[in-house]
Amino acid sequence: MRPARALIDLQALRHNYQLARETTGAKALAVIKADAYGHGAVRVAQALESQADGFAVACIEEALELRHAGIRAPVLLLEGFFEAEELSLIVEHDFWCVVHSTWQLEAIERTAVGKPLTVWLKMDSGMHRVGIHPAEYQAACQRLQASGKVAKVVLMSHFARADELDSTRTDEQVAIFQTAREGLSAEISLRNSPGVMGWPKVPSDWVRPGIMLYGATPFDQSQPVADRLQPVMTLESKVICVRDLPAGEPVGYGGAFVTDRPMRIGVVAMGYADGYPRQAPTGTPVMIDGHRSQLLGRVSMDMLCVDLTNVPGAGLGSRVELWGKNVLASDVASSAGTIPYQIFCNLKRVPRLYSEA
Ligand SMILES: *Cc1c(COP(=O)(O)O)cnc(C)c1O
Repeated sequence: MRPARALIDLQALRHNYQLARETTGAKALAVIKADAYGHGAVRVAQALESQADGFAVACIEEALELRHAGIRAPVLLLEGFFEAEELSLIVEHDFWCVVHSTWQLEAIERTAVGKPLTVWLKMDSGMHRVGIHPAEYQAACQRLQASGKVAKVVLMSHFARADELDSTRTDEQVAIFQTAREGLSAEISLRNSPGVMGWPKVPSDWVRPGIMLYGATPFDQSQPVADRLQPVMTLESKVICVRDLPAGEPVGYGGAFVTDRPMRIGVVAMGYADGYPRQAPTGTPVMIDGHRSQLLGRVSMDMLCVDLTNVPGAGLGSRVELWGKNVLASDVASSAGTIPYQIFCNLKRVPRLYSEA
């Protein structure tokens, strides 16, 4: 069997969820959209179900996957419905539903729903992606409540720059939100992972942690809560071939790396077809048999090369951690010019093995 695999540590996942709740004292929807950021939505939901207040996904297809797997907990659709026809399924399966646009509000008014909905009414407090304009927010809320279709409204918004701890933008968004919702008595929800960890003063009934559940930091600097996260995914493989090369020899496609001294090169069964970022350059950290080393040359589809020169005892069959407890996914991501969110979501082909310990 090809040795490439992703180990998923469910105990670490539960630790990180608990950290989100303890840090905020709020109820927490575990965000498991995009197949739980590549970790496997059903397995993640099953592992969290006894402790989680609910889950959040991007769309009804993802929500139905959870229900069909037997998950009974609340599930919020973060973009609501894309077509009014989805409302009957939303009612049937008791999904909670974001309303981010007036057309969705009108669709709810027009549609006969069998049971009243739980709506999370989203305000555009400054990100300017989706959400009701602050000046129209109170009226939208009143229309929902007057529609007779809605049992409960939660007031929500989303931060654009909470990962930038010295930006003033997050506080500005909170101020816009608080002013626009004045007088509405309903629960509120603003914070994503960087909001949970980096913005302790933001009021919250509900928080929506995503990336932090998986143990990766959204910050590009050390941060006290983020430093307590436990990485959940370990992407690993093995050395399948060893080359001892003299100085001056090219390695891999394009000869993008040339040995500058006699070197021992290990070829690892892992490539961009597994989701390892092709953009990762020479020098990107890897762990070989417990020793830190580096990627060499271009990542190819099924293989990549690492430096074994100074790794004692390394050779054929050596275990290589591409990211995990020792090599942080956020470090690999920044080396490749991207973010841990994307490298997790890109995971494919490798089997996922789940463990409790
Ligand atoms: C994806 C998403 C989240 C989670 O964001 P993280 O940065 O991963 O914590 C929270 N809220 C909304 C609306 C989202 O779309």
